Amino acid sequence: MRQGQWETVIGLEIHVQLATRSKLFSGAPTAFGAEPNVQACAIDLGLPGVLPTINGEAVKMAVKFGLAAGATIARHSVFARKNYFYPDLPKGYQISQYELPIVSGGGIEIELDDGARKRINLIRAHLEEDAGKSVHDAFQAMSGIDLNRAGTPLIEIVTAPDLRSAREAVACMRKVHTLIRYLGISDGNMQEGSFRCDANVSLRPAGSTTLGTRTETKNLNSFRFTELAIEHEIERQRELLEVGQAITQETRLYDPERNETRPMRSKEEANDYRYFPDPDLLPLELDPETIETIRRDLPELPDARCGRFLRDYGLSPADSQQLAGARELADYFEAAVAAASGEAKLAANWIMGELTAALNRNNLGIGQCPIDAARLAGLILRIRDRTITGKAGKEVFDAMWESDLEADAIIESRGLRQVTDTGEIAAMVAETVAANPAQAEQYRNSPAEKRVKLIGYFVGQVMKKSRGKADPQQVNDLLRSLLEK
Ligand code: ADP
Ligand code: MG
Repeated sequence: MRQGQWETVIGLEIHVQLATRSKLFSGAPTAFGAEPNVQACAIDLGLPGVLPTINGEAVKMAVKFGLAAGATIARHSVFARKNYFYPDLPKGYQISQYELPIVSGGGIEIELDDGARKRINLIRAHLEEDAGKSVHDAFQAMSGIDLNRAGTPLIEIVTAPDLRSAREAVACMRKVHTLIRYLGISDGNMQEGSFRCDANVSLRPAGSTTLGTRTETKNLNSFRFTELAIEHEIERQRELLEVGQAITQETRLYDPERNETRPMRSKEEANDYRYFPDPDLLPLELDPETIETIRRDLPELPDARCGRFLRDYGLSPADSQQLAGARELADYFEAAVAAASGEAKLAANWIMGELTAALNRNNLGIGQCPIDAARLAGLILRIRDRTITGKAGKEVFDAMWESDLEADAIIESRGLRQVTDTGEIAAMVAETVAANPAQAEQYRNSPAEKRVKLIGYFVGQVMKKSRGKADPQQVNDLLRSLLEK
């Protein structure tokens, strides 16, 4: 059978660590990177006699997410115990939400490869506590347990099985990542496990409307691994189905070193967990005013901001999307445009070109950029008013990166002002043409469409002679009139 005969169906469960200072049900700190087991208190350990208390900040963050996703916020939701045994779960149960989650429904829009937009529905988002961690590399032939993470607040966002390829799944994950960062409810740090996802994957014959048997690949902690793991899993299932074998419903683990998934355990059914309402916690009641206050305080969301960039700054869809894709980047861009007299296109080009490249080279985020938006604007203004050429601009940029100097100071000290004195440029043009009689002859004997390319040679020579300070347009004009005389 051929590829086209199977349709892929994917649903994601995305776990987002909320950026509260303390845990979901205790006052223990949530900061990442502490010595093992110094941030787990009696409540996180479930010692006898302790009682959990809900962290109101975490509830607000879950509501924020729900409102931003256009979901329904439950006025009344319930915490439930999910019972299972695992070494990193000292209580023997995880406090989660089951029948009555705080957020239901809603959806997000993703952009497909062809530019079309697709809505991905959300089933729910519930509040739950994270488990601890098993540490396998600290001791010889033994595993350690670090319970610092136990009790850290999470929202688990569950999508409908609306995704049809690994790329769509990653686009969805990215979109949720952008959203939670905009909302400021999570640092989204994937290396530290603050944002990870489980991918449910099944295949079905194209045209079928019933769902096939799925597997769930757990704990994917990068966009790339998610894409690779899903692709691998699609391939594995296809091979089985094509020889008439059944898929086993199970939980699998992705191994990035081998780029394969392997079985972890057979899939539990919900009734294996013996969910029941946690008797230590009251149902969570939210009054409409609280919800409305949170709604009023929502920041401008990524889609709205992207739309505004398109409309107000005249950027292309791709540029708008990229710049609006992270809140800090979007803020930086808008600050630069404001300081550069509205020069949006130039600002976008410099930010997505030179600036992003330099940040990537130095492994920095926009928040650590050594050139702030006002200084970049200083450079953009000098390019716009033609004090310097774009080429000299790159030199100024590099010098700004290495120092605290303003563009103007660098332009003066390095003598980078563009030569606009026509006489001076005309002299350089004449010298260059005189020094290259063969090329000049060739130019004169060529048809117009070839001349465009040949003139580039002369422009390059003159620019070199001027040390990048001549206005390329002026050079072009002068060369043309001289060569075509
Ligand atoms: P559980 O919580 O037991 O894993 P759910 O039915 O709540 O199961 O679904 C969890 C996730 O699996 C959701 O994202 C859902 O869209 C997805 N899902 C459910 N059935 C399938 C299927 N047959 N193929 C792909 N994804 C599925
Ligand atoms: Mg699940």
